[in-house]
Amino acid sequence: MPVVSLSRRAAFSLGRRLFHPDWDETRNRACFGRDVGPHGANYAIELVFAGQISPEDGMIVNIADLKPLIADLITPLDGAFLPDTLPEFAHKRPTAENIALYLWQNFPATVVEATLTELHLEEGAHVRVEKTSRTMIVSRSFEFAAAHRLALSDLDDAGNMARFGICSNRAGHGHNFNLSVGVEGQPDAQTGFIIPPQLLDKVVTEEVFARFDHKHLNEDCPEFRELVPTSENLALVIFRILSDRLEREGFRLARVHLQETAKNGFEVTR
Ligand SMILES: [Zn+2]
Repeated sequence: MPVVSLSRRAAFSLGRRLFHPDWDETRNRACFGRDVGPHGANYAIELVFAGQISPEDGMIVNIADLKPLIADLITPLDGAFLPDTLPEFAHKRPTAENIALYLWQNFPATVVEATLTELHLEEGAHVRVEKTSRTMIVSRSFEFAAAHRLALSDLDDAGNMARFGICSNRAGHGHNFNLSVGVEGQPDAQTGFIIPPQLLDKVVTEEVFARFDHKHLNEDCPEFRELVPTSENLALVIFRILSDRLEREGFRLARVHLQETAKNGFEVTR
C-alpha cells in the first residue's frame, strides 16, 4: 500500500538566552558559548503528515484545517523571549532540541485522519532537528575545502578521462564541502543539547578538519592511498571516523551528509 504524506512549512523568530540558573558564569559560558547572552534566532518548521487520501475530497488532510493549528502552535513562540515568557521553559534550556520537543508535544498527534509523523526544525542556517515518534536527530553543518583527483592508477590519462571526465584532471581540482553531521539521542536534562555544540565542533575539528581541510586527498591523506577519493568515499570515510569517535564520547552518529557542489550531495546513514 503506497504511503502518501503531506508537509507544511511555517516560520517564526524569538529571543532567548541559554543558561543554567544553578551554574556560575564560567560554567555557563563553557557550555553555551556566546549564546549565554540574549540573542535572536530564526526558525523554520516543517510538519509532515501521513494518512489515507479521502475518496471524497482527494486530500489526506485539508490544509485549511492545518493552518489554524500551526498558527496556534507557533504563536506562543513567535516574538517570545525564552525562557522568561513561556512557563514550559522555566526548567529547560531553549535549545533547538527543546524547542522541537515543545512543538512536537504541543501539536495534536492526529488531525482528522492524518498523523503527524515528522517535525523538522531549522535554527538559522546551520542547525536542524528532526523529530519522529521514535527518534530525534540534531544536525549541525560545517564547511571545509579539499582537492581531489578521480583516477585509477591502472588507467592512462585518456582512460581516466573516459571514466571520470574532467574530474580526472591530472593536477586535481577543489571543492568547498558542506558537511552536515547528524547525532541521534535525547536532549540532556541539564544542557538541553543532544550533543554539546562545543564538543561536536571539537570532534569535527580534530577528526575531519585536521585530516582533510585544505588537503589534496590523493596526495596528503593516507585514507585515500588505495581508495578513489570520490565524495561517496569521502562521506563514508568521514562517517566511519566520526562514528567511532562519537561512540567513544558516548554519542550515536546517525547520518553524514556531504554536499560537494550546489547540485551534488552524498549521504551516509546508519
Ligand atoms: Zn570533484
